[in-house]
Amino acid sequence: MSLIESWPGSAQRWERAKGSLGGGVSTGMRAQMKPHPLYFESGQGAELRDVDGNTYTDYVLGWGPVIIGHAHPHLVETVTRQLPLGQTFGASHDLEYEIAERVLAAIPGMDRVLWSNTGTEADQTALRLARAATGRRRFVKFEGHYHGWSDAMLLGYRPDANGALDRPASRGQNPSALTDVTILPWNDAAAVRAVLTDPDQDIAAVFTEPVLCNSGVLEPAPGFLAELRAICDETGTLLVFDEVITGFRIAHGGGTERYGVTPDLVVLAKAIAGGFPLAALAGRGDLIDEVTRGVVHAGTYNGNPVVLAAAGATLDVLAEPGTYERFEDLGGALATGLASAFSDAGRPAVVRNVGPVVQVIPGTDAAETFTDFTTADWDFYDRLTVELLRRGVFSLPGGRWYLSTAHTAADVERTVAAARDALAAL
Ligand code: PMP
Repeated sequence: MSLIESWPGSAQRWERAKGSLGGGVSTGMRAQMKPHPLYFESGQGAELRDVDGNTYTDYVLGWGPVIIGHAHPHLVETVTRQLPLGQTFGASHDLEYEIAERVLAAIPGMDRVLWSNTGTEADQTALRLARAATGRRRFVKFEGHYHGWSDAMLLGYRPDANGALDRPASRGQNPSALTDVTILPWNDAAAVRAVLTDPDQDIAAVFTEPVLCNSGVLEPAPGFLAELRAICDETGTLLVFDEVITGFRIAHGGGTERYGVTPDLVVLAKAIAGGFPLAALAGRGDLIDEVTRGVVHAGTYNGNPVVLAAAGATLDVLAEPGTYERFEDLGGALATGLASAFSDAGRPAVVRNVGPVVQVIPGTDAAETFTDFTTADWDFYDRLTVELLRRGVFSLPGGRWYLSTAHTAADVERTVAAARDALAAL
């Protein structure tokens, strides 16, 4: 196996970019990539090519959205047909409701859609609607769940240097945001019940990722989501599924379909437009219709026709027969292969998948809690991602791997062989 020794073209660009871009990158998390951010020229299917001419099998997939692979011919053709018709109208057009109808057909129990550009915006809209509909102010979120980077929601995601979770996550964040949230351990229905049955807590909504993708790809405990639904019903609290990662990925209808529990609002982004900036808030008609009763939902770029054309093409590909069965097979094969690579190398790790989302948690034999996840051996894992990169595998820090419809069983086999080699080198 020939190894990449260094990335001179990327290293040079990284030094240059630090002079003109805040933090050298377009979004802070990308600066965490080891050994330094790489610069890419193109992507095709499951493969990326960097500026030094190296190619990689891509498990980053744009941090999740590129679910039908890079430059899928149907997506390219659809967007290319739309582009000459104009880039935005700031007015109504057919794709807005046509794609909304397709989203509603996919997700059980939803009546209407609001388009936005990012998951962060759609999460904020969900909170605003929930406050308006219930007349209550506060909300519940769970440890390690991520609902975007707004002042209101960027809380309880990662412990600070002292292990505390009940702190603003960012300098400059409005500290009073903390007074509006109660952060609870996940999969603990009794804790939720205690808070929701206390009227002084004034809880408008419970936000949850249906699978805790952002902190270890942990599945809900059997019955937990159904119990959330029941407690919310009993207390007049709204249930919001943040399906930014899980939507159109762990089933066509996301976690809502996979676990058979219908929330009041569903937040979608990432996979829905195959890599174009699109998010959606889907929900019950009476809730979403609050926008006709004084709840403000705005955005110059909302419902952009090029982006919605991309969404249509992405949904076409995802709707092909066998997509989600293949995701289960490939996700299972990657998880099993990586698990055996770790175990044969004598390195403890938990490896699991939910459909095409795979998670490696290094340096431990059990990872059922948020603390198990945050205290795993991430320094070791950072070194592993560099060794994988040297062997043509591009993967995320933090242990999550994404598969697309473009990945094949042969890609997975080659990747597992590269992981064996990389682990042996460490
Ligand atoms: N919710 C979840 C579950 C997410 O994973 C993310 C992004 N990783 C967001 C919300 C925020 O989405 P965006 O980055 O599009 O603002």
